Amino acid sequence: MTSLPDSTTTRMSALDDARQQLADAAMHLELPDGTFQMLSYPRRELTVSVPLRLDNGDVRLFVGHRVQHNFSRGPAKGGLRYAPSVDIEEVRALAMWMTWKCALANLPYGGAKGGITIQPRDYSRTELERLTRRYASEIFPIIGPERDIPAPDVGTDENTMAWIMDTYSVASGYTVPGVVTGKPLQLGGSQGRASATSRGVTHVALAALERVGIEQRGARVAVQGMGKVGRDTARFLAASGLRVVAVSDQFGAVQNASGLDVEALCRHLDSTGSVVAAPGSDALERDDLLELDVDLLVPAALEGAIHEGNVDRIRARVIVEGANGPTTTQADRVLNERGILVVPDILANAGGVIVSYFEWVQSNQTYWWSADEVEARLQARILSAWNEVVRLAAERRLSLRAAAMVLAVGRVAQAHELRGLYP
Ligand code: NAD
Repeated sequence: MTSLPDSTTTRMSALDDARQQLADAAMHLELPDGTFQMLSYPRRELTVSVPLRLDNGDVRLFVGHRVQHNFSRGPAKGGLRYAPSVDIEEVRALAMWMTWKCALANLPYGGAKGGITIQPRDYSRTELERLTRRYASEIFPIIGPERDIPAPDVGTDENTMAWIMDTYSVASGYTVPGVVTGKPLQLGGSQGRASATSRGVTHVALAALERVGIEQRGARVAVQGMGKVGRDTARFLAASGLRVVAVSDQFGAVQNASGLDVEALCRHLDSTGSVVAAPGSDALERDDLLELDVDLLVPAALEGAIHEGNVDRIRARVIVEGANGPTTTQADRVLNERGILVVPDILANAGGVIVSYFEWVQSNQTYWWSADEVEARLQARILSAWNEVVRLAAERRLSLRAAAMVLAVGRVAQAHELRGLYP
């Protein structure tokens, strides 16, 4: 039942991992082969050329994508990534994961993802603005508050969302705040959106530690990646009494067995652009962070961080996936066999899309909630998803990832079934 038509392109491992996870869930759910096939492929995808006039007057061409994996439960929803790794296969995988994440959190959305193959730090702000506006105008026909709603991801931020909102609004002839989420507060962004993914990761991490009987106070944590997700996760975990013993970014890693001063480290990061050489820390090989003897490991950088080559050396007792797809399928099997609790990405980092949903609801109603209200609703929703996943995992003797996938894929398949196949 899990055979797929041949692909003519070279497949990247993130897409292999995403499809394998779907195949496992489809088997548990005994999905008809036709439904499995439909869910294995994107509903719609658009690849666009994005010519950019550089500040020096030269023109350079970039390639961008927007993939809408599924919209059976509502408009497609997903981030926009600017990174050299971006290609259509990566975007397809990320779009598929968004479908499951939204379904698992019971949001009325399908899944999408976008990306441009670029190293954004090599370009000026004005160049990035022109690039974003041209990309937004190219994908204009398929996005919108009722169609597909982008948000920030790796290499993009609230400014990127403001430019997309403005480009879309100019073309529409009126202001459309609901076309993106993760936009600045002054433009109708939500309280709590910027740190929502990290808050969600923190809620789930604390629940996971409790589940395996690890005392929260003093528990040792390593965080890979100190961007929008990793940085606030490290801060919130430290504020909850845990000991953040190591953090990394693309340039290197630092450690302190007694616990890093995370607030001082963030100030160092702001002033230098990296965690490397932060005061009160010792240097560590970047990827050695993953192999430290810690209670909790939060990979919050990119896909494939934990793989066949390093999984045997992973010593964390609990792994909470802040990033999307940080554990390959093979590594995931080994971690399960070794009894390491892995909280899957579609559950662990769902806080971002949950508060994106709140932002979209607020934008569409033009009525805004307080920070406390957003935080209370986020906590309730993500912990409710956690409880559902833990319950199903115990009932069916599944890993948390398998249980999360069975719940999410089951909801999407049910929507398909109820709507029927057109024509
Ligand atoms: P970001 O660009 O803000 O940060 C990425 C961080 O990872 C940076 O600190 C970068 O230096 C670091 N990094 C890159 N390569 C590394 C490596 N090899 N080793 C160590 N660090 C490395 O991106 P982000 O928004 O924080 O996203 C991180 C992950 O979380 C991605 O997988 C993204 O899809 C996922 N995610 C993000 C959100 C969100 O709201 N931003 C929501 C859900 C999931």
